[in-house]
Order: sequence, then structure tokens, then C-alpha cells
Amino acid sequence: MKKKGPNFIEQIIEGDIIRGFDKNLLRFRFPPEPNGYLHIGHLKAICLNFNLGKKYNSPVNLRFDDTNPEKEAKEYVDAIKEDIKWLGFKWDKECYASDYFEQLYGWATFLIEKEMAYVDSQTSEEIATQKGTPTTKGEPSPYRNRNKEESLKIFKKMYDGDYKQGEHVLRAKIDMSSPNMLMRDPVLYRVMNISHHRTGVDWKIYPMYDWTHGESDYIEQVSHSLCTLEFEPHRELYDWFLDAISPLEGVRPKQREFSRLNLSYTITSKRKLALLVEENLVDGWDDPRMPTISGLRKRGYTPESLKNFALTVGVSKRENIIDVSLLEFCARAHLNEVAPRAMAVINPLKVKIINYKKDEGEKLDFEINPQNKALGTRKISFTDEIYIESEDFQEGPEEGFFRLSPGQEVRLKNAYIIKAVKVIKDKDGNVNLVMCEYDEKSRSGSNTPESNRKVKATIHWVSSSQAVKAKVNVYDRLFKVEEPGKEINIIDEVNENSLETKEAYVEGYLSDSLPGQQYQFQRLGYFVRTDNKKALEFNKTVGLRDRWKK
Ligand code: ATP
Ligand code: MG
Repeated sequence: MKKKGPNFIEQIIEGDIIRGFDKNLLRFRFPPEPNGYLHIGHLKAICLNFNLGKKYNSPVNLRFDDTNPEKEAKEYVDAIKEDIKWLGFKWDKECYASDYFEQLYGWATFLIEKEMAYVDSQTSEEIATQKGTPTTKGEPSPYRNRNKEESLKIFKKMYDGDYKQGEHVLRAKIDMSSPNMLMRDPVLYRVMNISHHRTGVDWKIYPMYDWTHGESDYIEQVSHSLCTLEFEPHRELYDWFLDAISPLEGVRPKQREFSRLNLSYTITSKRKLALLVEENLVDGWDDPRMPTISGLRKRGYTPESLKNFALTVGVSKRENIIDVSLLEFCARAHLNEVAPRAMAVINPLKVKIINYKKDEGEKLDFEINPQNKALGTRKISFTDEIYIESEDFQEGPEEGFFRLSPGQEVRLKNAYIIKAVKVIKDKDGNVNLVMCEYDEKSRSGSNTPESNRKVKATIHWVSSSQAVKAKVNVYDRLFKVEEPGKEINIIDEVNENSLETKEAYVEGYLSDSLPGQQYQFQRLGYFVRTDNKKALEFNKTVGLRDRWKK
């Protein structure tokens, strides 16, 4: 791959170093909220932060932004950790915003004392109506000038759990006429009687994201806090909060924004992905059709292909939609290098080779991976009865059909040239057996003139006596439209035919494969063995070429 120059974030960091920032103090973080599984959008943020860590040899924290117990759970914490490890990244510290609740509470009290925060006792609706609009100023709350002693007293009682949800909130006292709506006295704390997955029932008030995020960066001494573009207007507030608790010691974190990853035919929003799970439209967060890291893993994607995808997409400030075929291209490119070849037939049609007289059959040489000659060959069984793909036979061939048909020769991959001589049908008239003759001297690699004879097509096959049955899951896109959710509800845009399960015949050799092992099934695409303990099962990762291309 072409080497790219520094991205704009790296240029910012280089600039800071030139202006005197101590390189040894660089520190980054990846800050997921544990309210869902990581998706392909997060991959971009993960790769950005961890690659910066590698480039500058600086630590990267994994910080769980766990400030909203309503939606968060330990299950998500565990899944997030597993996914990042699987991608091959190592975080320095495992941090939780909830570990800073006490410190944040202390700072909030300090803000009240400095008259930079006050308790508002209106309903959330009242507060919302006073917020104004981007073109009209907000109005001050009647509690805006509440004296600090009273605010301190109520805030302490909020902390003690003396109030019900919604009775009071703590707000920063900034500017109700700021053109930036986020600066119009944002809420810092709300009362919530909900148990938290880490702090249990210890807390009755929970800090808001904006208040928590920058202060957590400061506590961890994160130098560059990278987030997606929608947080750009939050930067002013991020800075205001850091100023409010000043004087700071050590590093003052700075927020910088990059564009989100959007992928065609895909959603990259946890909330919407959660909806698919709740509505049972998929089989959980790690369904192989889901654009989650765990779904892609089950689908057969490798960490290398995902990381390469992130690198290819790059980092910029421009919003765009990446074509999902780029992701598939990256999977193919890596699997082509690493996946051993095997044969499988998904829609089997039996073929009998009537002039093949070796009772025991024979063992033919089969190259494990032509991209890696060092792996050599293995033996594959050939017998007088085989399965081929039913699409590879046509009794009355249409124009341009060069595969097997009566009188027409075709090469069996790695084996012989055969010719169809007779067709046997069932009572409904469907072909269920094709009688063929083979050219005994045409065996691939045998160095006879016949072995080099060119025929118009090569097809794959498996020996019927050596083959085993396997369940094969073949996927289509999860959404029927390019930008799900743009026009109508995503639920109505789900492709009802995104999963097709078939019973295939695969080489017996594949029974010994391990869960997670990828293969290239000749001519069909890349497949991965699932962890199904009851049956031999494979998921199709991606086809051999881009079938969406016009
Ligand atoms: P979602 O909207 O899916 O819930 P989020 O931004 O709320 O995503 P977080 O868990 O808060 O999810 O995200 C953790 C980090 O991942 C943040 O820094 C966020 O900016 C980044 N991130 C989330 N989605 C994307 C995306 N599509 N592209 C790039 N980065 C993303
Ligand atoms: Mg978020």
C-alpha cells in the first residue's frame, strides 16, 4: 500500500511539539460509552488513537464514559475490551469516568462556591423552553441568582438522595445569550435513582457527559482528546470547564475533531444498532450481518483487514460516505494472502464419471495457497462420483455458457477434463445426475500434452464419498438502501433476505478445521468456520469479486 503522509491530527501534534510541547507528555484515549457494542465507526477512532500511541510511543487509555447508568452495562464493558484486544491494540490504563465521580462532585461544589454554577429547581420542560433557539437568546432561569449557600445546601441534599428525579439540577452559570446554545447554562448534574453497573446505588446524582469528559481527560493527563465532528461546538464548553477548575497542573488537554466514518448500506450508530437487536431483526449484537466489530469477526473479517480499511479511509475533517465495497475489498485482499484453499459445493449436483475405473479413487495434489507457495500442497480425493455446483451445468446451454453441458468439456479444478454424455432426471424432470466421461491423460500437473489442453472453463467439485455435509450461511446486505434511516425508519429498510442458510458438501478435510479459521472455497468466496459445536458450519465472509460493481 502507498504510504500516506501525516494526517491532519498528526500535523497538529507535530505543530504542538515544535512549539515546545514535551513529546514525552503525549497521551491519548479511546472513550467508549458502555451502552452497546463497538461498531465499524468506532474502529476508525480506535485505530486513530492507538496508531498515534504507536507512532509517538505514548500511552493510550481505554476510558469508559459511564455516566448514564440507564443504558450502560458490564456486558458492554466486557465486549468492548474483547474487541479492542482482538484488533491487537493494548491500552495503558483501563479507566472509568465513574472512578472520578467524587472528584467531579468536589469540583462542582467548587464551581458553586465561585458562583459559576447554581441549582435550578424548574422542570426540564421549563428549562428547555428558556433555552431559546440558535437565532434567539435564551432567558435566565428564575433560580440563576440563587445564593450560593442555598445552592450548596440543595446540591448536598441531591447528593444525599433526598430528592426525586427531576426535582433539581445543577447548572453551570455561563451565558444565556451565547450564540453557542451549549453555553446557555448547561446542566452539570441530574438526580437519578438508578443503580450503576460499577458504583451500584452509591450515587443519586450523575454528571453529564460534557462536564465529565474534559475533566476526565485532565485527570488522566490526556494531551489530545480526539472526537468526532459533532462535538466541535462542545469545544468551547470543554475549554470553559477546564478554565473553571483552574489553575491546572501538568497538561491541559485539548479537544480536536475529525469526521465520523459513514458507510453505505450500513448504520454506525449504537442506538440504531440496539434497535435491530431489540426488535429481533438480527441475532444479537454479534450477528455476522451487523457492522459491529464482533459481528465482523464472526463474519470472518481479520483484524488486519479492518485495520487496513481504517488506514485506507484515513482521517480528515470532511464528512463523506465510504462505499461498503471498500471494506469488502480489504477483507478479500488479506484473506487472499492467508486463507487456505478448499473445495465446497453449495448447490450440489451429482456427476458420475462412467469411464473412471480406479475403484479406490486417487489422491491429487492441491495447492494450499498459491499466494504462499511455501505452504506447498495437500492431497485431495478424487473418485468416480463427485458433486459439482448445479449452476455449472446446463442441459440446453444458453449462449455464452461455457461450463458443463452435453458434449461440452470442462476442467475439474486440479483434476481432469470431463464431458457430459447423458443426463438422468427425476420424475419432475429435474436433472439429478449427469453421466460424464473423463480424459484420462488430462490430469492437472501431469505434464502430458492433454494436461495442458485448454478448455473454456474450470469448475470446482468434491468427491461424493469423501465429502461431508456442512451448514453454510450466505449473506446479503442488511439494508436495502444506501443510506439507511435517511428517508424512512430503518426498520422498514431492513432486507428480509439478508441471510440464506444452505446445506453444502465440503471436503472431509474441513471437519478438522477450528472455529475462526478462514478458507477460500474455490470460486465461491471466503468462508469462516463458526463455533457451532453441534454441526460443521461456515459463514460466508465475502465473495471473490465485487458483485455490486456495474
Ligand atoms: P453512537 O452514536 O454509535 O452511540 P457514540 O459516539 O455515542 O456513537 P461512543 O461510545 O461515545 O459512541 O464513542 C466512542 C468514541 O468513538 C468517540 O470518540 C466517538 O467520537 C467515536 N466514534 C463513534 N462513532 C464513530 C464513527 N462513526 N466514526 C468515527 N468515530 C466514531
Ligand atoms: Mg457518545
